[in-house]
Amino acid sequence: MSVRTRFAPSPTGYLTVGGAWTAFFTWLLARHGKGQFILRIEDTDRSRSTEAYEQALLEDLRWLGLDWDEGPDIGGPYGPYRQTERAPLYQEHAGLLVERGAAYPCYCTPEELEEDRRRAAAEHRPYRYSGRCRGLSVEERAARAREGRRPTLRFRVPQGHPPIVVEDLVLGRVAFDPADIDDFIIQRSDGTPLYNFANVVDDHGMRITHITRGSEHLSNTPRQFLMYEAFGWGQPRVAHFPSLLGPDRKKLSKRHGDTAVREYAAQGYLPEALVNFFALMGWYPEDGREIFSVPELIERFRIEEMGRSGAIFDAQKLAWMNGVYMQRVYGRDPDRVVDLVVAYLRQQGVLGGQISPEQRAYVERIVGIMGERLRLPRDIWTYGDFFFQDDVAYDPQAMRRYFRGRETATLLRRLRQALAGAAPFDAPTIETAVRAAAAELGVEGKAVIHPLRVALTGKTVGPGLFELAEVLGKERVLRRLARAIALAEAAEPPAAAQPAG
Ligand code: GLU
Repeated sequence: MSVRTRFAPSPTGYLTVGGAWTAFFTWLLARHGKGQFILRIEDTDRSRSTEAYEQALLEDLRWLGLDWDEGPDIGGPYGPYRQTERAPLYQEHAGLLVERGAAYPCYCTPEELEEDRRRAAAEHRPYRYSGRCRGLSVEERAARAREGRRPTLRFRVPQGHPPIVVEDLVLGRVAFDPADIDDFIIQRSDGTPLYNFANVVDDHGMRITHITRGSEHLSNTPRQFLMYEAFGWGQPRVAHFPSLLGPDRKKLSKRHGDTAVREYAAQGYLPEALVNFFALMGWYPEDGREIFSVPELIERFRIEEMGRSGAIFDAQKLAWMNGVYMQRVYGRDPDRVVDLVVAYLRQQGVLGGQISPEQRAYVERIVGIMGERLRLPRDIWTYGDFFFQDDVAYDPQAMRRYFRGRETATLLRRLRQALAGAAPFDAPTIETAVRAAAAELGVEGKAVIHPLRVALTGKTVGPGLFELAEVLGKERVLRRLARAIALAEAAEPPAAAQPAG
């Protein structure tokens, strides 16, 4: 039988990186097994589910490239794929359990149950369902119904049942004692199903072979297994993924970056980078390799190679990975990266209105020389603000370090002369002119390169100096040098160089 996996989100919010991570491995397992990946919308909690969130979930999964073979938008042989549209199926299956005595109506009101809970708390014992409605006779049920009570349905946990053993593909063998499990509600008094029950009916009905989900659902598994047993169905395999942790090994939260996938998209993260990053959270390929294409991941992934303990979400690593993919994507399809950077510059108000072809070409040249510094679109500003403002923001520390009074002014003046004569004004010619000027001054290349970089960019780090000078163009370079000469002259000479006395 071919592998069939499902991602079953509740549309109660945007897809978070944690949810997307689960979806990714679920998808990968199906693709590795050349099977099907099914998208099911678990929207039985109507007060919290919205259509807008459902649409957003679909969009975000698509953006990540996690395509599904059956789902609410495309249908499939075992639909519908939205739980609110499957009500008759739940009714029918609830009826089956009642008929077999595996489920029974419970007439306890929320107030009565709350009272039981309160009493347990007051007596310092854990709350357990009283079992009040477990053995009601037909007459007793009828009497309660006459009082106007509308029952929920409870699953009857078989007494004296042997331990429930889950052979989890990731966590290994986990055993549960059924005596610890109360008869649980499977259907609300309004007839809508609860998660555990609907999940079982659907996973079976949709022929799911592997259930994959976060380990916060592990405690649901024995309840679900009991229902499979009551229906007389074979159980699917299960895999619970470890919790995601921040680098401080605390449960992943917003603070660590567990926000909506679309926020990452808005910041200019590439889906390729996110997917590769997801793969390395929890899965540890033997050779320690880090960069994988999607086809390689599909080929190499083994669920048995997933770690049992918490997987670390390291936002720094994600940013690094994005940088790797920025370069790769730029090599293949520069427009995609330029689009992201242009969008960022517009958003910041650096570029406005209609972007001319010249402006775009200018951004493209800058992106081209940024190399691995461009991890995210915003790095265009971190390392290249001077491309967009003539009023260079001089870093005071850089000035203190490299602008040493008259000495530097002389040096910059000589460089300015050399560059004024450089033609064509391209990186190799600029480099030759700069090195010749250094030789003439009798200093090492770096003695002129550092002050020149500060003069043109205001900083000590950034793209290649000769390349950036080429992109700035001769006119701007000469203008900036003139200003820098004045600044250097006004700067205090370093203490050591001051005449003694
Ligand atoms: N709707 C559940 C959730 O979003 C699905 C859990 C499962 O995969 O069984 O957590």
